[in-house]
Amino acid sequence: MSEPTGLNAKMAEVRALTDAKGFSSSQERIWEMLALIHTEVSEATDAYKKGEGMEKVGEELIDAIIRILHLLSALELDADQLFEDKMDVNWKRPHKYGTARGG
Ligand SMILES: [Mg+2]
Repeated sequence: MSEPTGLNAKMAEVRALTDAKGFSSSQERIWEMLALIHTEVSEATDAYKKGEGMEKVGEELIDAIIRILHLLSALELDADQLFEDKMDVNWKRPHKYGTARGG
C-alpha cells in the first residue's frame, strides 16, 4: 500500500499527533469533536472582530482544519476522495450555486 498524500497525509499526521498527545479518537467523541471544530471557527471570528492580525485569524482557521482532519480520521474516511468528489459536484453547480443572497 502506498503512502498517503494530500489531505490523507495531513490527516495521518494529525492522527499521529493526537494519538501521541493522548487525545481519544473514539467515535463516541463525535459530538464533542464537532463542537470543538465550531470553537475554532468562533476563535477565528473573535480574532477578526477584535482586529487581531490575519496571522492570528489564519492560525485559528488552521486549528479548525486540524480538528476536521482529526474527526475525518476518527470516522475512517478518505479525505482526498471526499474532497475530489465534492469539488466535482461544486464545479457543476450554477453561478453562486443558484442562491439569491449570501454566498
Ligand atoms: Mg484555537
